[in-house]
Amino acid sequence: MQEKGTISIHTENIFPIIKKFLYSDHEIFLRELISNAVDATLKLKRISSLGQYSGELGDLRVEIAFDEKAKTITISDNGIGMTAEEIKKYINQIAFSGATEFMDKFKESKDANEIIGRFGLGFYSAFMVSDKVEIQTLSYQEGAEPAYWVCDGSTEFEIGEGTLEERGTEITLHINKDSEEFLSKYRLQEILDKYCKFLPVPIKFGTNTEEIPDGEDEEGKPKHKLVEVDNIINDTNPIWTKSPNDLKDEDYLAFYKQLYPFSEDPLFWIHLNVDYPFNLTGVLYFPKVKNDFEIQRNKIKLYSRQVFITDEVKDIVPEFLMLLHGVIDSPDIPLNVSRSFLQADSSVKKINNYITKKVADKLAELFKNDRKGFEEKWPDIGLFVKYGMVSEEKFYDKAKEFALLTNTAKQNFTLDEYKEKVAPEQTDKDGQLVYIYTNDPEKQDAFIQSANKKGYDVLLMNSPIDNHFVSSLEQKLEKTSLKRVDSDVADKLIKKEDAPAHILTEEESAKVKVIFDKAINRQAFKVELESLNPEELPVTVTMDEFMRRMKEMAAMGGGMGFYGSMPDNYKVVVNANHKLITRILNDENEQEQAQLARQAFDLALLSQGLLTGADLTEFVNRSVNLI
Ligand code: ADP
Repeated sequence: MQEKGTISIHTENIFPIIKKFLYSDHEIFLRELISNAVDATLKLKRISSLGQYSGELGDLRVEIAFDEKAKTITISDNGIGMTAEEIKKYINQIAFSGATEFMDKFKESKDANEIIGRFGLGFYSAFMVSDKVEIQTLSYQEGAEPAYWVCDGSTEFEIGEGTLEERGTEITLHINKDSEEFLSKYRLQEILDKYCKFLPVPIKFGTNTEEIPDGEDEEGKPKHKLVEVDNIINDTNPIWTKSPNDLKDEDYLAFYKQLYPFSEDPLFWIHLNVDYPFNLTGVLYFPKVKNDFEIQRNKIKLYSRQVFITDEVKDIVPEFLMLLHGVIDSPDIPLNVSRSFLQADSSVKKINNYITKKVADKLAELFKNDRKGFEEKWPDIGLFVKYGMVSEEKFYDKAKEFALLTNTAKQNFTLDEYKEKVAPEQTDKDGQLVYIYTNDPEKQDAFIQSANKKGYDVLLMNSPIDNHFVSSLEQKLEKTSLKRVDSDVADKLIKKEDAPAHILTEEESAKVKVIFDKAINRQAFKVELESLNPEELPVTVTMDEFMRRMKEMAAMGGGMGFYGSMPDNYKVVVNANHKLITRILNDENEQEQAQLARQAFDLALLSQGLLTGADLTEFVNRSVNLI
């Protein structure tokens, strides 16, 4: 006997709305229905293990099939099944309190995940792609009768006797015109690969042919025959569900290859495993990143009880670890709620802190146990570590023990080691430590050499994050400042008492300044005479550290602002103690004076790659004449 009824939602017709609003994510209907089927089998397993079911469990599995001609997709399981009463209770009454609230949410959101999870519409997502949905089901309970339910996407449904003879549930979707793309092996396989690859129950989709041994032929040679075997699309025990003690490096590497077939092997990995105060398992891999960060994002996959949810793990994984790869599985992450809620959610924050701590601990361990190996990996992991130190206080506190500074000779030092190394030579007269760095060792080579000659060490700070890293070191390290090697002449980088005496009189200095001002004759270059070591270059062009940083920050912020709009300003430092300067001063010929000054200035520009175009041509011509 068929019984008719109305699905109890207070809004007249919900399904057209579901179809209309959830357009982009239609494919998740399959995830939802398969998740229900998986749950149904797991429930039965649990009931059985509790001794409340004495029947045979059989091979628990979920099967997906489709029929292109009949335009149907079927999802069947041999789980607990439902009685007619249960269908009425679980399927007919869409459990949400206010229909009005629901409608409002619908209108403002196009995110299927959010709506479906929030309002328990898992099963109803079938109507995004179907004109009609049928359920055939037989409950595991003793004496249960098979039940049948059908609904055509209006709020009317029919319920009655079913035909299923085996325990379980079979859901048949009559695919609508707009959704025929799903009636394809390729498309279904794609969706299954995306969402179902690691479900805990075998998922069968079609069959494969396989060659199996089949006795021997007359000559005693082994024979084979082809048989059809179930095509199981998933790995029911992915490594993150196993204990780290049972896993070898090969297992982690193989899993990585499975997730990211085209990537190079990762550097190392972290197995996450917590059950208190929240539940979380997973494996995070450190990929080789070098300097191209953007393309690597969205590589961590988020699962909830082995069901793929999303690869947008923002908020759950700290920003600086977004470059990691791997899997996180947590039933505690409120997956289906809105972003703003997620950010405020306390378990999300805890997860975030936990991951940060785990990563820091792992790095500390690597550093401690294998310093050499750690140094070898540093070019790849340095970017994460610095990013983390800049963006998370807590991470900085841990990372300061193992973060490495690399100098131009490619030697690595921890922060403490470096301080000890440079303190004797690089402490200024006020007791301030000065670290010197280069962001472009090629271009700044002349400066680096001058600094080295003075016994100063020069750090390499040439990764994309180093601008920020330099500022954050300066804030954190006590009595320490950082200066780019070309921000001043070597003699002046670190202010010490023992400045060499000026060999020129004030009058002579003024004269030299006039000669240079005239010879250079450009707004952006300000000439200053300084008494430097006679061994230093006669002329050096520098840009003030503070000014340069302000401009860089303005540029990075996108806006120009005050500093951004300032023209570049360079200081032309003339070394009063250099013998060339004395020679220029003593030269009687004004034209020659100008030429020499200009030549010395151009050489300074040249060493910094600032000499280009017509200026360069003129320099070459002048040089030829001088020779
Ligand atoms: P949710 O899964 O979030 O509870 P659904 O609308 O997807 O919401 O399903 C409602 C209920 O219907 C489930 O909680 C379950 O009790 C029942 N159900 C759905 N699919 C099956 C199935 N394949 N086997 C047994 N019960 C099912």
